[in-house]
Amino acid sequence: SVRVRFAPSPTGFLHIGGLRTALYNYLFARHNEGTFVLRIEDTDQSRYVEDAEQDIIDSLEWAGMEIDEGPGKGGDFGPYRQSERKDIYHKYAEQLVESGHAYYAFDTVEEIDEMRERLMKSGNPSPKYDSITRQSMKNSLTLSKDEVEKRMRNGDEYVVRLKVPRKENVRFEDEIRGNVSFDTEGLDDQVLLKSDGMPTYHLANVVDDHTMEITHVIRGEEWLSSTPKHILLYNAFGWEPPTMAHLPLIMSPSGGKLSKRKAESEGIPVNTKDYISGNYEPDALVNFLAYLGWSPGDDSEIHDMKELCDLFTLDRVSKGGAVFNYKKLMWYNENYIREHSVEELKPRVQALFEESKFEIPSDEFLSHVVELLHERVSRIDEFVSMGAFFFEEPKEYDENALKKWKDDSPVILKAYRDKIEQLSEEEFEAVTLKDKIKETIEEHEVGFGKLMMPLRIAVSGQGFGPDLTPALELIGKEEVLRRIDTAIE
Ligand code: GLU
Repeated sequence: SVRVRFAPSPTGFLHIGGLRTALYNYLFARHNEGTFVLRIEDTDQSRYVEDAEQDIIDSLEWAGMEIDEGPGKGGDFGPYRQSERKDIYHKYAEQLVESGHAYYAFDTVEEIDEMRERLMKSGNPSPKYDSITRQSMKNSLTLSKDEVEKRMRNGDEYVVRLKVPRKENVRFEDEIRGNVSFDTEGLDDQVLLKSDGMPTYHLANVVDDHTMEITHVIRGEEWLSSTPKHILLYNAFGWEPPTMAHLPLIMSPSGGKLSKRKAESEGIPVNTKDYISGNYEPDALVNFLAYLGWSPGDDSEIHDMKELCDLFTLDRVSKGGAVFNYKKLMWYNENYIREHSVEELKPRVQALFEESKFEIPSDEFLSHVVELLHERVSRIDEFVSMGAFFFEEPKEYDENALKKWKDDSPVILKAYRDKIEQLSEEEFEAVTLKDKIKETIEEHEVGFGKLMMPLRIAVSGQGFGPDLTPALELIGKEEVLRRIDTAIE
């Protein structure tokens, strides 16, 4: 059965590229009724960030990707943090040394620098620790067995290197990119175990994918160049490599890879946590990310997680880079807000209003506010920015809106005010308020906008917003009159 893994390094907050990789793994797992594993690749101690693992777990949960196995979750193939699997890597590295596919190397950094310098001087522009230089270096292939043992007993520092074959053409079939071939000539003898006892990415990744029985490796294109090294390792171990699938790059709208810096300069949030704190809809981001490099092959665009799981296959992942179109994301976001019912939205909107210190008079009041703005917001926090006037008088009038405030505005507004003042509390409702608008503009022989715009500005401070007369009804007679009076003065 299918087993896939998301294998981030906890070097910082989970960025959206990583979230997309996780998503494709998740969709693939669910589509095939397989297992979705989270593995934390934390062997690079110099780049380790304390809160990163929790951020990854929170991000996946927020996006609705449930982990089947992983740290904190358990499973039969743990531990799922590479820092807790050191013994396993040592065992396998030694196995490779014994089978003659790897060796211990005792060279110091200075010795390696020296070798590089010497070779560069003699006309080799990019010297390598490879099958040629290997002969002149200090390793278990050139030193006597006694010498090796002595050095080890001494506690001399060493690394374990893979004996990369001199001239070999490594080939593999990538599910997305097709046939990939790579020449080993000019390749360093890859370090497998570092002198601090930690494995390199290559060793840990291959050992884990094998021992965790991963069937498909689905990861970003930036790892494509590592894959031949992994294939060499699988060969050395005599293991069957998993199926490989390298996802297309995410591109910036202005061209080129969407780097952190580029994203920032183009106003695109980079980290998943920015989408969480920015009040984006998780299902909208998921839907959007799913289409960033994949499509179901028809022109449908809206699919929730469950449908995406049904639809997702690797053969529909594209090779070419996928452009991150922020407008499209907002389009998805709007769509998902519309799709959520008022009842679903209410608790979240309530929390946001409360965060901004607005007091909600009643549940019914909140329902009306949500209903009135439901079709207008593209992000849930806009309920607060667009709906503040339900709770308090405008603090200021929008500059652009004020351009629509004309010399005759106070007169027309006053006429309307005097009409609605006559209404009893019970009569103060949307239909009647609308009738009174019609009456007023007919009497003054002016267009609709001549009254609507000043009225809207007076009550909300804005030139746009929800349907006006239901809003007036909700705000109530006394307060509406008060706001009109303030505006006319
Ligand atoms: N630890 C690597 C990363 O940070 C994993 C790459 C892979 O999936 O093999 O993305």
